[in-house]
Amino acid sequence: MKIVKRHVIIFSIAMYVTAIGLFIYQQFIGKERQFAIDIEKLCKVDVNENEWKYIVLHHSATDEGNAKRFGRYHREERKWPEGLAYHFVIGNGNGSGNGEIEVGERWTKQIHGAHTANMNLNQIAIGICLVGNFEEDNKPTKNQFISLANLVDYVSKRYKIPESNVIMHNQVVQKSTACPGKNFPYKELISKIVKSQTGKTL
Ligand SMILES: [Zn+2]
Repeated sequence: MKIVKRHVIIFSIAMYVTAIGLFIYQQFIGKERQFAIDIEKLCKVDVNENEWKYIVLHHSATDEGNAKRFGRYHREERKWPEGLAYHFVIGNGNGSGNGEIEVGERWTKQIHGAHTANMNLNQIAIGICLVGNFEEDNKPTKNQFISLANLVDYVSKRYKIPESNVIMHNQVVQKSTACPGKNFPYKELISKIVKSQTGKTL
């Protein structure tokens, strides 16, 4: 009787450990892999590709939002007929998925952004906006950071953009801005990209 009981306990522990393992895989490793695979597909366009030379990083300065909402604001309030100023928006779970990458029309059409005050830069700079206000207490969610790192890694390889041309909005001199906020993990992002491009996995 005692032996049977011990077996039941061991079996239960084994099942419990397996369940935790599967949960962790699904939450973290599985998702990372899924984002990595999807990015190539997401970035695919049917038109001639622009000669992108820069990547400019932004935050939305809002706690929530998505590409559709920001696009409506840019079209209706800012009066930009092309709508959404950015090429990509990465959600934080409030308004779109946590780590979800939304592709803007300016990307599918391969046209200039409207995300900096430097019009020449806008012609050749991919604009990526993370939902959130990183000038306040927040910083990007783990999923947002993973998606961002994978997206920047993919497009910088595809268009041969050196990491020195992966910049934050506040590094564009034309107009003073806090964007993407003091808590934006820029150094961490660049070191991740450099590691990936020197042959180490992301
Ligand atoms: Zn910005």
